[in-house]
Amino acid sequence: MNERVDPAGLVADAPLYAARKKVYPQSVSGTYRNVKWGLMAFCLGVYYLLPFVRWDRGPQAPSQAVLVDFPNRRFYFFFIELWPQEVYYFTGLLIVAAMALFLMNAVGGRIWCGYLCPQTVWTDLFYAVERLIEGDRRDRIRKDKGAFSLRRAGELTAKHTIWLMIAWWTGGAWVLYFADAPTLVRDLATFRAPFAAYVWIGILTFTTYTLAGFMREQVCTYMCPWPRIQAALTDEWALNVTYRHDRGEPRVSAKKADELRHKGLPAGDCVDCFQCVAVCPTGIDIRNGAQLECIMCGLCIDACDNVMAKLGRPTGLIAYDNDVNIKRRLEGKANVYRLVRPRTVIYAAVIALVGAIMLYALATRSFLDISVLHDRNPLAVMLADGSVRNAYTVRLLNKQTHYRTVALDVEGLPHAKVQVVGSDAAIEGRPYVAIGPDQTAEMRVLVTVPADAKLEKSTGVTFRIADTDVRETAAARDHFIVP
Ligand code: SF4
Ligand code: SF4
Repeated sequence: MNERVDPAGLVADAPLYAARKKVYPQSVSGTYRNVKWGLMAFCLGVYYLLPFVRWDRGPQAPSQAVLVDFPNRRFYFFFIELWPQEVYYFTGLLIVAAMALFLMNAVGGRIWCGYLCPQTVWTDLFYAVERLIEGDRRDRIRKDKGAFSLRRAGELTAKHTIWLMIAWWTGGAWVLYFADAPTLVRDLATFRAPFAAYVWIGILTFTTYTLAGFMREQVCTYMCPWPRIQAALTDEWALNVTYRHDRGEPRVSAKKADELRHKGLPAGDCVDCFQCVAVCPTGIDIRNGAQLECIMCGLCIDACDNVMAKLGRPTGLIAYDNDVNIKRRLEGKANVYRLVRPRTVIYAAVIALVGAIMLYALATRSFLDISVLHDRNPLAVMLADGSVRNAYTVRLLNKQTHYRTVALDVEGLPHAKVQVVGSDAAIEGRPYVAIGPDQTAEMRVLVTVPADAKLEKSTGVTFRIADTDVRETAAARDHFIVP
């Protein structure tokens, strides 16, 4: 027990720990529920089926549309293939994702949390299974409080079996993004898949089953940092799921409201039916104002709209709104909505700018690359005839899915002789090198200048490769050293 002082200055003894109250969300129908069903089907469909979508990249490359190929250090996304040195595209993607989250928040509150977050989507799915087997809210409360029976044991077994199957499919789908999906499915079924695949499936099965089946709203309330960040990012114009207390208060039953209105006394539209609380997946009462626990799923809007429709009153007692409009209505003014304001413009502009830069970088991306490393020891060798030789390690990259032959030139050293160790392939004195499809080729290159060349101690040189078939070139800078 701990002594506390409440805002009114009263001292009270209150425990610092409160046990979780299990939430039994009731089913509800309406616009937001339908939107959530649609988005759930879309998100789960994409997640489970995407690894099986094929994309033809030619015979030398994998045919899976989305693939993280760790052994070959590649990431494939439909027509895009990224190499490890192009990881900066993910930085751009993360910036766009963060700005999209901020923009959603500035426009309509926690849209991500309520409709798209994996925790919400899978918890919603697990609730749907629970409802199907154990019944709606009242049935589930009664059964949880009731005596244990054979029938109850059967229900619980069925529920947990289906939950575990969903969780297992979730883990199974995850590993399919890291290898050829049809092959891995066959290997998993015949127990020939890599051990790591089974480990990851086990980890994801456990986390999905635990987070969506048991922890549910506690993940949003206690574990996720976004509600705290979101609260700091919002402003008074963002549209949030709001109880319009200017219209709802004072709360009275429908019958009493008629009597009060008949007498010219105030009566709100809220009939205190608690339907908005019953459907809430986090178990809160939206009529208490904005709360950290509210994921803004909109289900209380559907519940209240259904009540209002039955009473023949206008819907929208709970709606996407903000406190500015509540205040304006209390002052007899009309609602004002400001979707276009500095923060939404800035977020949208950053998304457009970073998106455009990424698209430009992708469209003009080079499929040929070269890197050069000068030998450190010795830096230079003087040969018997007085000529000077430097040695380099040169790595060539071919990002195309077919063989390429490139000519190697060294610029900045007149009369220099360029030689690839172990290869005599040359045309007009320029070495020619073949690079396999989607591969790198590493070679030792010797550059020799004649004795009479007048050179500084260190001369800048450019190594340039050229694919004459498609007129694509790549270059790298280094130095030629004279002892
Ligand atoms: S209060 Fe309403 S919008 Fe918020 S979580 Fe509960 S049902 Fe969803
Ligand atoms: S559902 Fe509507 S009428 Fe019923 S308690 Fe909630 S706000 Fe009031």
